[in-house]
Amino acid sequence: MVYDKIFAFVMGACVGSFLNVCIYRLPKDISIVKPSSFCPKCNSPIRWFDNIPLISFIALGGRCRNCRRPISLRYPLVELITAVLFLFLYSRYHLTLSFLKLTLFFSLLVVVSFIDIDYHAIPAYLCFLGIAAGLAFGVYKTFIEFKAGKVDNLIIITDFKNLLFGLGFTYFFKFFGDVALNIYLSFKNKDSIEGEKEALGLGDVDFMGMVGLFLGIKAVVLTFFIAPFIAIIYSVFAIIFKKSHLIPYLPYLSLAAFISFLWGNNILAFLGF
Ligand SMILES: [Zn+2]
Repeated sequence: MVYDKIFAFVMGACVGSFLNVCIYRLPKDISIVKPSSFCPKCNSPIRWFDNIPLISFIALGGRCRNCRRPISLRYPLVELITAVLFLFLYSRYHLTLSFLKLTLFFSLLVVVSFIDIDYHAIPAYLCFLGIAAGLAFGVYKTFIEFKAGKVDNLIIITDFKNLLFGLGFTYFFKFFGDVALNIYLSFKNKDSIEGEKEALGLGDVDFMGMVGLFLGIKAVVLTFFIAPFIAIIYSVFAIIFKKSHLIPYLPYLSLAAFISFLWGNNILAFLGF
């Protein structure tokens, strides 16, 4: 059957459309339910037939119907990424708890990444929400297994261990990274330093706790060491095309987390672990 896969893709595109709303509104503290969609350039409301994921962008030729100014290519891009993500996860997991858990997790990574690209920071509650949701999935799964007689208590030890590992592992590197960076800066130029500089932000630590909770301990380690490689590749492009090389880090961590999820075991086997 191919209809269910088409449905998963369409659902993903619709969720992607909602993620666009979150990316635009959450950092500005605008409600994500009211008002309904509006053009960010002329503020005119967008009618439902101009708000169909992916299709409306093409039908409108990438321009607002009212002010004719271009609509950012990011909107269909986020919709497409989410649609492909849903299709892929559905093909692999069908309608299971894993499907729900992973679509929620990777959707959150999309939101966090694009907000980080715009603001170089994210609202702290986003990772906390993700962690709360991850723990709720753990409780539910354990409850199901308890009822089926597969486990003899309701304590979700593994999830907590994974969460704490993600937080602790990243905080360890943040601590020594910050110390090293500040020593380096104090030798380099004593006068131009205002305040402490951070090698990794606390947002990155929360983020990695979430990675541990959803993908496990191995994924934390892989994500942490893959992300810098992606960042370097981007930096080279940025230098060639003379774009700003002041880079937000969460998009790289997100991509690295997805790579760890897809090929983590292959990479570890290749490295001889
Ligand atoms: Zn407009």
